[in-house]
Amino acid sequence: MSLGSYHQPVLKNRRTLLERAEKFISDIYFTDCNLRGRLYGDSCPLENLEFFLSPKRIPFTEASNQTFAPYKVGDSFGPTWYTCWFRVALTVPASWSHKEVHLLWESDGEAMVWRDGQPVQGLTKEGEKTSYVLSEALQDEEPHSVQLYIEVACNGLFGAGQGSMIAAPDPKRMFSVQRAELIVFHRDVQELLTDFEMMLDIVKELGENDQRSFQALFAVNEMVNLCEPLDPGTFPRARGLASAFLSQRNGQSQHTVHAMGHCHIDSAWLWPYEETIRKCGRSWVTVVRLMEKNPQFVFTCSQAQQFQWVKSWYPGLYSQIQDFVKKGQFVPVGGTWVEMDGNLPSGESMVRQFLEGQRFFNKEFGNYCKEFWLPDTFGYSAQLPQIMQGSGISNFLTQKLSWNLVNTFPHSTFFWEGLDGSKVLTHFPPGNSYEMKGKVEDLVKTVRNNKDKGRVNHSALLFGFGDGGGGPTQLMLDRLQRVPDTDGLPRVRMSTPDALFSQLWSDSQLLCTWSGELFLELHNGTYTTQAQIKRGNRQCETLLHDVEVASSLAMCRDPSFQYPAEKLQELWRLLLLNQFHDVIPGSCIELVVDDALRYYEDIRDSGSKLLNSALNILGSRGSSPAVFNSLPWERQEVVQVQNGSCNLALVQVPSVGVSPVKSTEPQTPVSVTVQDDGTVLMENGILKTVINKDGTLASLCLVSSGREALLDGSKGNQFVLFDDVPLYWDAWDVMDYHLQTRKPVVEVVDAARVVCSDRLRATVSFSLRVSERSTITQEIIMDAMCPYLKFNTRVQWEESHKFLKVEFPVRVHSPNATYEIQFGHVQRPTHRNTSWDWARFEVWGHKWADLSEHNFGVALLNDCKYGYSVYRNTMTLSLLRAPKAPDANADMGTLQFTYAIMPHAGCFQDSSVIQCAYNLNSPLRLVQCPPETVAWSGFSVSSPAVVLETIKQAEDQPRTLLLRLYEAHGSTVSAALNSTLPVSEAWHCDLLERKDPIRPAKLTAQGIVLHFKPFEIVSLLLVL
Ligand SMILES: [Zn+2]
Repeated sequence: MSLGSYHQPVLKNRRTLLERAEKFISDIYFTDCNLRGRLYGDSCPLENLEFFLSPKRIPFTEASNQTFAPYKVGDSFGPTWYTCWFRVALTVPASWSHKEVHLLWESDGEAMVWRDGQPVQGLTKEGEKTSYVLSEALQDEEPHSVQLYIEVACNGLFGAGQGSMIAAPDPKRMFSVQRAELIVFHRDVQELLTDFEMMLDIVKELGENDQRSFQALFAVNEMVNLCEPLDPGTFPRARGLASAFLSQRNGQSQHTVHAMGHCHIDSAWLWPYEETIRKCGRSWVTVVRLMEKNPQFVFTCSQAQQFQWVKSWYPGLYSQIQDFVKKGQFVPVGGTWVEMDGNLPSGESMVRQFLEGQRFFNKEFGNYCKEFWLPDTFGYSAQLPQIMQGSGISNFLTQKLSWNLVNTFPHSTFFWEGLDGSKVLTHFPPGNSYEMKGKVEDLVKTVRNNKDKGRVNHSALLFGFGDGGGGPTQLMLDRLQRVPDTDGLPRVRMSTPDALFSQLWSDSQLLCTWSGELFLELHNGTYTTQAQIKRGNRQCETLLHDVEVASSLAMCRDPSFQYPAEKLQELWRLLLLNQFHDVIPGSCIELVVDDALRYYEDIRDSGSKLLNSALNILGSRGSSPAVFNSLPWERQEVVQVQNGSCNLALVQVPSVGVSPVKSTEPQTPVSVTVQDDGTVLMENGILKTVINKDGTLASLCLVSSGREALLDGSKGNQFVLFDDVPLYWDAWDVMDYHLQTRKPVVEVVDAARVVCSDRLRATVSFSLRVSERSTITQEIIMDAMCPYLKFNTRVQWEESHKFLKVEFPVRVHSPNATYEIQFGHVQRPTHRNTSWDWARFEVWGHKWADLSEHNFGVALLNDCKYGYSVYRNTMTLSLLRAPKAPDANADMGTLQFTYAIMPHAGCFQDSSVIQCAYNLNSPLRLVQCPPETVAWSGFSVSSPAVVLETIKQAEDQPRTLLLRLYEAHGSTVSAALNSTLPVSEAWHCDLLERKDPIRPAKLTAQGIVLHFKPFEIVSLLLVL
C-alpha cells in the first residue's frame, strides 16, 4: 500500500525530523505557533466563585446549606485533610454556540463536581483530569447559566507526604485553585495531537533497528509539512496520513493485548479510610462518564468493601454502576472483601475474604467473580490456590513479583500449584504495572517482557490512574483505539478478565507450573512493622473464632439463643478491612493506624460481649468456676481462676467443651531454685532450664531424652538489635545488609529473680536496657505439665530505625526450617546456597516455626508475631521495628507480646507443636457453671493430623452449622468427626458454603468419617 507522496527531507537526519515533530506538539516549546497551542480557543471567567471550608468530610446536602464566602483564584485554603467546598456560578457566552465548552479547573487536591445535588465528575490534576465538559456542541436551547459545587479534598492523590511521597503527612500543607474558567475546546486539535503522539511514540519505541520506525518517522514528518495549526482545514490530510500508516496490518502471528481499564484504589494508605470512600466516588463517577461516551470501554473494579461504601455514600452513582455492570462494561473482579495482604491473614480470614466478597458480588450483581485479583500485595501464600478453587475461582491476576529485588520471576502466564496440589491459571500483566496509560511504550513493553513467548500469545494491559487519579482518561482510550491492529505493534482489544483467561486456558498446553508460595523478595519488614496492628489482628481472629464456636454450641443447647449472625458479619468485615494490603502490613500513615486500632477495639468490645452471652448459656449461669475450651483437642493447662498471684489451678477440659475447675495435682510439680552462681534452675518434669542473671537461657533440656536444646556455649533468649535503614520504603523494607549490624542487648537493669514459685507455676522476671530510652521487661514462665517455656514480654520502645529480635541458637542441624502458614506449613532453607535461598533472609510465618532433625527439634511459638528467620542453627523471631515513614510514630510506646520455646522429641507433627501453638494463642476462657456440672465436649476429631478450625452457623441457614477442618501434618489420612450435638444430616460444601448435592457425609457409629489429602481443607454443613 502506498502512503502517498512525501516532501523529500533535505537531509538524511533522523534526529532533526523526530525533534521537529516533537516540538510541533510540545506543551513547553513554541506553543505560540505549534499545534498544542491551538488546543483551547476563547476563554471566559466564571461569573462567581465562593467557598466554604470544613474540617470534616460532610455530605453534599450539609455542605450546600453552609454560608459561602467569595474566593479569588490563587487564594490558599487548607490545611491538610480539610475539605474546601466551592460554589461556582457560570454563564456560557451566547457566541459560543455549537462549540465544545469545558469548565477548566486546575487545583491542588482531589475534586468532585456536583450538579443538581449529584456527583458528576472527578477532577484531579495528578490524574490528568482538569476539564468538566459542559457541552460537546452547545445548543441554543441548552442552559447557558449553570450552578455547580466543587468539593476539593485537601490531600493529593498520594496524601500529603512532607518532602517525599511516603514521608509522614505534612499537617499544615495549604492548597489553592490555580485556574478556573470556561474555555472553548478544539476537539479536532486534540484528535490530531493524539495522532502525532502515537506516530512519534512508534518512531521512538520501535527504534533505529526497525523499519516501521522509519516509516512512521517519514509519515509524521509529512504530517508536520501538511498541517497548518491556524487552519483546521489542513487537519484532515494530516490525519489521513496517520490513519493510513496505523491501518497497515500485522501478520497472523502477532501478540494480542487485552486492554482493561482499572483504578487501583488502596482502601487506606497515605490517607485514611474515610478519604478512600471519596476516592472511589470521584474515580468511579469519572469512569461512568467515560462509559457513556465509549460503549466499548471496559473497566475492572475490585474490593467488595469499596462497592459497599459507594452504595451507602453515593446511591445515585451506585445505581448507574449497576446499569453498566449489566452491560458488561463495569466488571466487578477479585472475589474478596478487600485486596488483602497475601501473607499475614489466617487461613480462616482468607476464606472469609472470599466468603464476604463473593457473596456480596453475587447478591449485588448476580455473579460470582471468576478470578482473584490482587495486583499489589507483598507475597502470596502457598495455600491461596486451594482457597481460590474452594471459592469458585480458577484464575489469578497479580504482578507484584516484578518488584523482586534479587531474582527475576521466570513466568508471566503459568499454573500456580498450591500446598495441596490445587492449581490456578495465573497471569502477571507483562508490562509490570497496573497503572498503564495506553501508550505505545506500554504496548511494546507488554510484548517484550512476556516471559512466555511462544507459549501464549495473549496478555493483559491494565490502564488508568490509581488511588484517586480517577482511573482511565479519554486520551488513554483514544490512544488504544488508534492501534487495534497496526503492523509492528501488538493487536489491541478492549477486553475482560473472562475473555483473557478463556483464551489463556485454551492455549495452556505449553504452560509451566510454579509450585509453592510466591515469595516477594522485598517489603519483608511488613511482617513486623506496626506491632499493635498485628496483635489486634491475631487476637481478634482468635476472639471471633471463639465467639462463633461458643455461639454455635449455645444455639444447640438453648433453642431460644439467637446466633448473632448479623453482628458477627459486621465484626468480621471490620477485621477483613484491616487486612488490606497497606494496613495489616503496617505501611500506612498514623491516621490509618488510629482507625485500625479503634476497629480492633470495637471488635474486642463487641466480641467479648457476644462471647460472654454465649458462655452464659454454656455455663447455665451457675456460680462455680469452669473453663471453656474452643479448640478441638483435650487440654490440660494451668489457669488463673481469680485475680491475684497464686489462684492457680491445673484443669483438664475436653475438646470444644466445658469443664468445671477441679484442680488436679501435676505429675511433677514445678520447682525453681536459685543456684550459687545466681542463675535460676526451673524444672517441671518435661523441661529443665537454667536462666542467667541477664535473662538469657544457659541451658534448656528436654527431660525425657536428656537432650540439651541449646547450642554449646550459646545463650537462648538473646535479644539482639540491628540498624534498620532501608533504601527507600521505610515501613516496608528490611534490607539484607542490616544483618551486618547485629548487637546483643546486654545491659541488665534488674537481674533475673523469682517472682512466683508455686507447684503449678514458676516465674522469673528481669529487665534489660536496650538504649537510653528503651527497655525490655520479661517474665519467663514455666507451667506444670506444659511442654514449652513462655516469655511474656513488655518493651518500652523509643527507637529510630532499629530492629529488635530474639535469638535461640539450637543444637539442631537441618537444611530446612518449617513455618506455619494458612491451614498448613511450608519449608524454607536454613542455608544461603543460591540467590533464591539468600533472598529469603527474613520470612513470614504464623503461630510457630520449627527446626527439626530426625527425632528431635525445637519450635518457636508466638502470640502476635509474623517475622522469622532461621539461618543455620539460629532461630530468630522478629519483634519490633522503628521506621519513620509513612508513620513518624510507628511502634513507639509500650508494646506487649508473648513467645515460647518448645524442644521436642520426634517430629513436630507427633509432638503436638501445632496444638501447643494454638493453645498459646487461645487461652481457656473462664465460665460460671452450676457446681454439679460434669465436663462435656461438643466435638472431637479422632486424628491429631486434622484440625477442626471453624464452627459457625451456616450463612442463610439458621439451623445448620458450618464446620471447617484441615489436614495439618502434610499426610493422607482418614479421621472421624464426632459430635454430641443432634446432627440429622451432613453434607460436603465449598468455601462459599454451597452444598455439594452429590457428596453427603455419612453419619456412622464412628462419627463422620472424612478422608484428607495433605493440607486439604474440608467444609461440612451439619443440619441440626
Ligand atoms: Zn495497593
